Amino acid sequence: MIGLIKGLKTTLKAFFTRPVTVMYPYHKMEVAPRGQGLIRLRMKELGDRPVYKCSACGICAKNCPQQCITVKKKEDEKQPEIYKVNYSMCIFCRICIDTCPFDALEQTQEYEWVGETRDYFIRDKEALAMAEVFPEAIEENVKEEEV
Ligand code: SF4
Ligand code: SF4
Repeated sequence: MIGLIKGLKTTLKAFFTRPVTVMYPYHKMEVAPRGQGLIRLRMKELGDRPVYKCSACGICAKNCPQQCITVKKKEDEKQPEIYKVNYSMCIFCRICIDTCPFDALEQTQEYEWVGETRDYFIRDKEALAMAEVFPEAIEENVKEEEV
């Protein structure tokens, strides 16, 4: 009998407590500033043209525990010809970001991304710049460099 009363007490308490869940995707919770979402390849301005901050040194690829980064340098320029991240293997550990000597990568709080094939989760350098999500990206980085 005591067990039954205890159980009912717990049920009643839960009934009058505000739920902690939200009706995703209609309602979304704010992601913490240090939330580890998709990786962004940062840009800067060189002269009057936007370029990647990445010099294609390959350090991030060497340190990635999942080996999901592919980098190939342009022959005549310190810029990536190929820079790809295979998100189907990425564990969002941010080692690539922390080991980059050029501050060329950034962790975003973007986490929504669904697809039906494995190939869909391979992001190239254009997609990694995330210009559609961060249209102000270039100006932001120029300001940072001036400081
Ligand atoms: S992101 Fe950084 S570590 Fe990786 S290749 Fe570019 S400059 Fe090198
Ligand atoms: S977050 Fe970790 S697993 Fe993902 S690409 Fe960077 S180093 Fe590799």
